[in-house]
Amino acid sequence: MSIQKLKDEAARALGRKDVKYLIGYKKGSYGFRVSPAFIEPKEDVDQLIMSPLCNMSLVKYVMMEEALPSLTEQAKKPSKIAIVARGCDSRAINLLLEEKGVPREKLYIIGVSCTGAIDQRKIEARFPQVTEPAEVTEENGNYIINVNGQVHTVPKEELLADLCKLCRYPTPVIYDKLIGDKLPTKPFHYDEIKAFEALPLEERLAFWQQQFTKCVRCYACRNVCPLCYSTICSLDSLTPQWLRRSVDTSENFMFQIIRTFHLAGRCIGCGECERVCPMNLPLMKLNRKLAQDAKLLFGYDSGTDPKAKPLLTTFHSEDPQDFIL
Ligand code: SF4
Ligand code: SF4
Ligand code: SF4
Repeated sequence: MSIQKLKDEAARALGRKDVKYLIGYKKGSYGFRVSPAFIEPKEDVDQLIMSPLCNMSLVKYVMMEEALPSLTEQAKKPSKIAIVARGCDSRAINLLLEEKGVPREKLYIIGVSCTGAIDQRKIEARFPQVTEPAEVTEENGNYIINVNGQVHTVPKEELLADLCKLCRYPTPVIYDKLIGDKLPTKPFHYDEIKAFEALPLEERLAFWQQQFTKCVRCYACRNVCPLCYSTICSLDSLTPQWLRRSVDTSENFMFQIIRTFHLAGRCIGCGECERVCPMNLPLMKLNRKLAQDAKLLFGYDSGTDPKAKPLLTTFHSEDPQDFIL
C-alpha cells in the first residue's frame, strides 16, 4: 500500500466541503505505539502513517464524537468525518450502519487493504524497554524494524497478531475510496473454538474460572469496543444493579457473560477488547465462539452487509429452536 496515495486521498477528502476532519494514524511518541491523528487542514496530511504498528481501531472515535451533544458551532461545520479503515474497521462501520448507530452520510471512508498488524505484546517482548519511537515496514514476509537507528529483520509470522492470522476480510467491505490492491477473502474457520468445545465441561469451566480470577474490572474491554456505544450501559446501572461492584470471580464471570452476549451477532472480531486488556484475558475465545454460532446456526456474518438486519432482531421460521422450552 502506498502511503503517498493515502495522503493524497486524505488531502482530497479534507478538500471536500462536506468533510470536517479526518481520523487516521500518526507516529507515536513512545516505543512501538502509534497514535490516532485528527487532521483538519489538508496541509497536515503529511503526519499520516500506515504501518504494521497501526494495530488499533479508529472506529470508536466516530461514536465518541457522535455521542456528544451537538454544539452550535459544531452544527455549523460540515458534517462528514473521513476515516481510515482497514478490513476489520470496515466491518465495524457496516455494523454501525446496520444498527443505525451512525448514518452513512456522516462518513467518508478511506479503505486500506491490510496485510496485518503487529501484536504489541509480541514486539515489546522481543525488543523490551524501547522508549524512543520505533518504525516498522513490511518487506517480503519480514518486518524491518528500526529501533534507535539499528535495523532488525524479523519474520512476519513471529510478530503478526494472532487475530490477523485468522482475518477473513483484509480488504475493507465498505469504502468510498480504496487504497491498495484488493486482497482475497479467506475461508471461514473456527478450528480453535471447535477444539476448545471438544474439551470436557469441567475443564472448560475451570479454564474460564481461572481466567476470570485475573480480571480487575477496569472495563477497558467494554470502553474500547467500537460496538459498545450505548450511552446507558447495564453494567453501570445501580437501579436495578445487575452486577455488584466487588471484583470476585463470580461477579467477573457475570460481567463477561453480559459483555459477550451484548455483542452476540454484533462483534466483528476486531480484537480491540483483547488487545487492551491489562490482564491478558483471552476474550477473543468468547467472541469467536458467538461469532461461530451466529454463522453456523443462523448463517449470519456480522458487519459484511450494511443493509442486513441485526441478527437478534430477525427471525426465520427455519431458525434452530430446540433451545426454546
Ligand atoms: S484483522 Fe484483518 S483487517 Fe484487521 S488488522 Fe488484522 S489483517 Fe488487518
Ligand atoms: S479489560 Fe480485562 S481486566 Fe479489564 S475488565 Fe476487561 S477483562 Fe477485565
Ligand atoms: S467485542 Fe472485542 S472483538 Fe468484538 S467488536 Fe468489540 S472490541 Fe472488537
